Amino acid sequence: MSITLHPSIDNGFAATKENFQGGVLNCNCESNTVRVKLSGQTAHNHACGCSKCWKPEGAVFSQIAVISRDNVEVIANAEKLVVIDESAAIKRHACKECGVHMYGRIDNTNHPFFGLDFVHTELSTDEGWSAPEFAAFVSSIIETGTDPKDMTAIRTRLNELGLNTYDCLSPALMDAIATHVYAQNHA
Ligand SMILES: [Zn+2]
Ligand SMILES: [Zn+2]
Repeated sequence: MSITLHPSIDNGFAATKENFQGGVLNCNCESNTVRVKLSGQTAHNHACGCSKCWKPEGAVFSQIAVISRDNVEVIANAEKLVVIDESAAIKRHACKECGVHMYGRIDNTNHPFFGLDFVHTELSTDEGWSAPEFAAFVSSIIETGTDPKDMTAIRTRLNELGLNTYDCLSPALMDAIATHVYAQNHA
């Protein structure tokens, strides 16, 4: 059985380039393309199986990374961006024509990840972005239609690609969340 997870992951991926300075994300529209400039390298890039992250056509996982919100700037066709769910903790700004999510932003200053925007670096033609490091929310792909019987093969394939699989976030990010909660409870 051949397993396709995400076009930027299935054939392996380039290593993170040192001293990479960032680049531009483009939505899928051929004209009036929404462009977002990222002034720096991303971090914690990973495959995500949740149902909220944007995925390219046919992909089982999304690929998503974070970057300081100060390094995110919409440089073209900002008027085409809409927030797809105002009630979500992460406000995903999507192009209303092609549906691509350009960046996700957290407004709640008490959120553990406040200050970080969520971005899909596959939308950039620049090379050197931080490489995927793990797969998160893997079990969640069942919610969007993956047969539970395929899960062992999918986890095995992710491991072959060098990505540890988690059914929440990675230990480093779960630790960051718990550290934030401790600090808030002992302020
Ligand atoms: Zn678009
Ligand atoms: Zn997700």
